[in-house]
Amino acid sequence: MLKSKLKNFKQTFVVFLCFMMCLSLFTPVSTFAKCSHKNTTWKTIQKATCKKEGKKIKVCKNCGKSLKTEKIKKTDHLYYLTNYKPTCTTPQFVYHKCKYCGKSYTERVGKPLGHKWSKWKIDTKTLFNKNTKAARICNRCKKVERKNAKDIKK
Ligand SMILES: [Zn+2]
Ligand SMILES: [Zn+2]
Ligand SMILES: [Zn+2]
Repeated sequence: MLKSKLKNFKQTFVVFLCFMMCLSLFTPVSTFAKCSHKNTTWKTIQKATCKKEGKKIKVCKNCGKSLKTEKIKKTDHLYYLTNYKPTCTTPQFVYHKCKYCGKSYTERVGKPLGHKWSKWKIDTKTLFNKNTKAARICNRCKKVERKNAKDIKK
């Protein structure tokens, strides 16, 4: 009777020992699960463009768990500029077009240049007409303006 009890005890002890060993084996795993996520980093999972917001996640460097998701603000447009020189009647225009999304707008700069008139000259063909005409020409755009010669202030 006593012998068998002792044997029983031994068996129980072995099982107990085994259990302890198993527990010690699993202990590191349980500490791992209890990570305090102190060592974190942000990872961009979607880059922001001028059209769309991006996305980033806060990840624990130790356990790899994603802790937070945040939006990334849209970026500025990247404009390419085309310059249109001013003329006698139009100001300078700067045409902006975004490389990425095609958004465009035109900016007016300054004022039209105004015509660069020559002096009034009598149109000799009309010299003997009732209304003698005079004309002047713009040196820049070659526009011609006509008037009755008598209306020209001297
Ligand atoms: Zn962690
Ligand atoms: Zn854009
Ligand atoms: Zn002109």
